[in-house]
Amino acid sequence: MTTALIGIGSNVGERVKNCQSAIALLKDKVTILKISSFYETEPWHNTKEDYFVNCVVEVVTLLDPRRLLDILKVIEQKMGRVDTGKWGPRVIDLDILFYGDEIIEESDLTIPHPFLDKRAFVLVPLSEIAPDILHPVIKKTATKMLSELKDTSSVKKLKDTFED
Ligand code: ADP
Ligand code: MG
Repeated sequence: MTTALIGIGSNVGERVKNCQSAIALLKDKVTILKISSFYETEPWHNTKEDYFVNCVVEVVTLLDPRRLLDILKVIEQKMGRVDTGKWGPRVIDLDILFYGDEIIEESDLTIPHPFLDKRAFVLVPLSEIAPDILHPVIKKTATKMLSELKDTSSVKKLKDTFED
């Protein structure tokens, strides 16, 4: 069994509900240990886009990383994500942030997720549920990466929103 951290985001439609639905679908496939608060976050690249709702979940799974990625993609598709380009608006975005302490660098799968150390919308919810997780490449904990973060984009905690 491996512990993995999954980043969830939505900036189209009912963003909180979209994240909750993704978590409910994930529950059928992996064991969920922790769910962070939900945060409303400023879009990173395209400032004309709508704000996101983001959260991070900690899971344990027997699925290997590639199989886990396939499952995340199936959930994204089930939820009606359409291809709007790399940084485009999305009903749901599911990213593998960490998979144990594995380092994977393949064309369609990079773990730890690239640039997670540069993004407040990842590090804030991550630090809430896994402050001591160690980035196996950067060799810093989530707390440390957050304390060194230069990203000033806004990340605002929403009231506790997860219901199952
Ligand atoms: P991003 O999440 O970077 O904003 P997308 O969700 O559009 O962009 O990117 C999707 C592609 O990223 C997927 O098809 C997947 O193959 C690839 N990818 C690479 N590494 C990961 C990862 N750790 N988690 C999720 N997707 C990943
Ligand atoms: Mg993604």
